[in-house]
Amino acid sequence: MLVSRGGIRYRVDKTVFRGFCALCLIVLNTQSATADWHQQQRDMMGTRISVELWHDKPAVATQCGEQVFTEMRRIEAKMSTYLDSSEISHINNNAAISAVEISDEMQQIVEKSLYFSKISEGAFDISYASVGYAYDYRDRQQPSDDSVASKLAAIDYRHIELGDNRIRFKHSGVRIDLGGIAKGYAVDRAVDIVEQCGISQAMISAGGDSRIIGDRGGRPWMIGIQHPRDPAGIALRVPLSETAVSTSGDYERFFIEAGERVHHIIDPATGRSAKNSWSATVTGPNAMTTDALSTTIFILGAAKGLALVESLDGIDAIIIDSAGKIHYSSGFEPPETEG
Ligand code: ADP
Ligand code: MG
Repeated sequence: MLVSRGGIRYRVDKTVFRGFCALCLIVLNTQSATADWHQQQRDMMGTRISVELWHDKPAVATQCGEQVFTEMRRIEAKMSTYLDSSEISHINNNAAISAVEISDEMQQIVEKSLYFSKISEGAFDISYASVGYAYDYRDRQQPSDDSVASKLAAIDYRHIELGDNRIRFKHSGVRIDLGGIAKGYAVDRAVDIVEQCGISQAMISAGGDSRIIGDRGGRPWMIGIQHPRDPAGIALRVPLSETAVSTSGDYERFFIEAGERVHHIIDPATGRSAKNSWSATVTGPNAMTTDALSTTIFILGAAKGLALVESLDGIDAIIIDSAGKIHYSSGFEPPETEG
């Protein structure tokens, strides 16, 4: 059973549900989409943003959704390594030469990233990008073994020196990327906006990172965790309310070369795609935390990942390992039908 943030206990369902789904988190409630639920979607931050709001005035819901999209666009402009004009690009271009002044917001996200590095012994590490930038999943490009070997020493969060609104890299090859935490951060900012709109029931998702405010009309949302090897299948159904939930999977961005799956979650120890898991789902109080932790425990794998989760307050996880076996943290009771 899962203890929701509201203290209600829920059971995980292993019913395999078939149907098309593009996201790794799929909302299965279809029956109760009354006129008062308003859904808006946009493609940005390299993913699908979805805002579902409960409100009796459609115009208010639409306007609130627009505010969310504007905020997400602002965050993307700051955090995207694909944009030369972003704050993150400015840091990557200059911080190895001399200290760079950074915004409060960047300070907060880098500080949180370094915290997750410390508690995971470096499994989560935004300097993964020192090697990670050389992968291109769409063009099926990956660095050679020699190239990885020559760059690997630059992956180390301890090269990142963070002062008061200042950042410096202590190694010339360091690059950072916030792809493992920024979407969660954006979802949390969206929740602030939605709450300011006076809305108390909502669901906001940025790809695999979601936050549920309240519930769905007195009942939990049914969240599907995608089957990692069947794009049209759902491995598990989890009833959730008043929580953040993130899934990281090796099926999101990948290509297969010589029988090996080359995907976007990089093990800082090797500079190669992490091999211990197929997917990792984490629930917790906010999406920045669950985003970073889903990437982290994906890399750590079931044994170390669940040990980390058990050491943290208010966090639960479901890991599908690289043999397809499902592991649950103590907040979940495995479904009775499993086996
Ligand atoms: P997505 O929702 O984009 O699939 P995930 O939360 O699963 O994101 O995290 C994957 C992203 O995290 C990658 O695209 C990359 O930007 C970043 N990343 C990859 N490896 C690491 C790592 N070891 N530490 C921190 N961030 C990472
Ligand atoms: Mg994540």
